[in-house]
Amino acid sequence: MNATGWSRGLEVSGGGTGVVSHAGLVLLRQLADRTGLTAGLSAALPSPLGGHDRGRVLSDLACAIAGGARVISDFRVMGDQRELLGPVASVPTAWRALKETAAGGDHRRRKVTAAVSKARRHAWAHGTARHGGLPPVKVADRKLEGVTCIRLDATVVTAHSDKELAEPNFKGYGHHPLIAACDNTREPLAWMLRPGSAGSSTAADHLRLLDDAITALPPASRRKLMITCDGAGASHALVKELDRLASRHGYQVTYSVGWELAAREKAAIAKVPEPAWEAAVDGNGQVRERRADDACGNQRCAHRECWIEEAHVTELTGLLREGPGGDQLKSWPKTMRVFARRERPHPGAQLSLFEAADGWRYSLWVTNRAADTKGWLGQCAYIDAAHRVHARVEDVIRTGKDTGLGHFPSHDYGLNKAWLDAAMIAAILLSWLKLLALDGDLARAEPKTLRYRVLHAAARLVRGGRRRTLKIAATWPWAQEIVAAWQRIQAIPHPT
Ligand SMILES: [Zn+2]
Repeated sequence: MNATGWSRGLEVSGGGTGVVSHAGLVLLRQLADRTGLTAGLSAALPSPLGGHDRGRVLSDLACAIAGGARVISDFRVMGDQRELLGPVASVPTAWRALKETAAGGDHRRRKVTAAVSKARRHAWAHGTARHGGLPPVKVADRKLEGVTCIRLDATVVTAHSDKELAEPNFKGYGHHPLIAACDNTREPLAWMLRPGSAGSSTAADHLRLLDDAITALPPASRRKLMITCDGAGASHALVKELDRLASRHGYQVTYSVGWELAAREKAAIAKVPEPAWEAAVDGNGQVRERRADDACGNQRCAHRECWIEEAHVTELTGLLREGPGGDQLKSWPKTMRVFARRERPHPGAQLSLFEAADGWRYSLWVTNRAADTKGWLGQCAYIDAAHRVHARVEDVIRTGKDTGLGHFPSHDYGLNKAWLDAAMIAAILLSWLKLLALDGDLARAEPKTLRYRVLHAAARLVRGGRRRTLKIAATWPWAQEIVAAWQRIQAIPHPT
């Protein structure tokens, strides 16, 4: 076999016709239209007479970002497919549309998010019908059905150049947005661009974000909620509000919020009798163990002393509420319980003095999960697992950083807010695509994989009579999935 023979007789010329290089973008664009998102955005954003419809432009910008656009000039990916997509706004028009949205201020942005929420009702109704319910929340090896899970988290977006209100913070220099994500569908529900110096546990911001996130849910998905917030985020105001939400008649709200390890908690931990620490479980519901240094020779032995459990959980509520010093939590809701998890620190982990002396690394959180909860959900190990699945919100943020969240285009703060809207709509469209039209591996794929397999698939546009047919390359391994996805999206009834 000649290693360089492949190019013999090969010529490269222009003049190909009907060739489409990002064929899968039609799935996202049609999804935006079929769910009513494009029309809703059109109604929310005034368009100049004779100019491009601003709802179409924002919806197309979201498709472009989902397809990999990182800066506004990348928007041309849509315009470059005019033969397929028809008249598409130019890059300068996309800029103008973002500027107009920014100029409309938070009032106009609220109309945009209201349009997204309305489309979500339609998308979720259809997705629920397709799957027999909203995807369950995974708690270790168990599935929690019928509960909608909202996770609140702050992230840092690094600015590589001077940007308005980009400020130094604990992770570098940039902005510090807050994001509320739905764990069931892995989609952003609410978001807030904040200056870089904004704290990660600013109560007022969390309260507003939480309210926006619940409003963003279809009413049918608001009755049974699980709300988690990581870090030492448990401000009095947030827990009080969660307690108020939980006390409403006809609603069920379970929260799980990070809690600070302060002097009273350290004192309580010191009093926990060793047997009260229960083994924690990992994502598969298994106890994580390793062999002790002085274990016997049989690697599979059943000697308790030969195995070291890596993490434990215990409840501190009793010690804090009924200690000799009286109720140390009396200013907090009666239903609030405090839990602690301890782990063997990784080599090189940063430990507090307390942790260094003690040999464990601690994380604390509070929950209103009732002490008489029956079954697996009432067990310490699963109460811990239910808090720790919080890490999945980071999935939304990680994939978000791959879809426009990682890079703000402008010096102007208002314009960056409008860009964040477009980026979050991009992430939402990708999650709806999975929920409504994809299966198997593709329904779990990251944006990068979806782009390669689906969004950037090559095709030929063939005309016959009045119809146009987009023919995905016959040899493309995911051609059938793309065709099936299109048919599923076409079958979504128009919103009434
Ligand atoms: Zn042994």
